[in-house]
Amino acid sequence: MSIFQKIIDREIPATIVFENENILAFEDINAQAAIHIIFIHKKQTKNINELSSEHPEQLSQVFSAISEYTRSEGLEKKGFRVVTNLGENAGQTVFHTHFHLLSGERLGRFGS
Ligand code: 5GP
Repeated sequence: MSIFQKIIDREIPATIVFENENILAFEDINAQAAIHIIFIHKKQTKNINELSSEHPEQLSQVFSAISEYTRSEGLEKKGFRVVTNLGENAGQTVFHTHFHLLSGERLGRFGS
């Protein structure tokens, strides 16, 4: 069971900032920006490609949640970035598909 499943099940604490029937969003424990939120679908897949091929409907559910959250928090006006990592070379450490929402400051370029 992934650490994110434990957050869904409330077995470990997290600062939850958004939730609906399908989606959970919570603050990243090791923030890489002033605002760093993790969005997940409650139905587990291991990465974006598995999600896209097996549960494509989850994509719009995740991005609708991000849209709703960023609008309600005023982040749409300030600007934000959404990142997902696939595989260890990209830095994926938790194998429950997730989307990093980064905002709240001027973000640097990304890459290596
Ligand atoms: P990845 O490196 O897989 O793209 O992202 C995993 C993210 O999950 C990391 O940014 C890491 O800080 C975050 N993370 C790992 N364990 C926990 C935890 O127990 N609670 C929270 N809130 N975030 C976690």
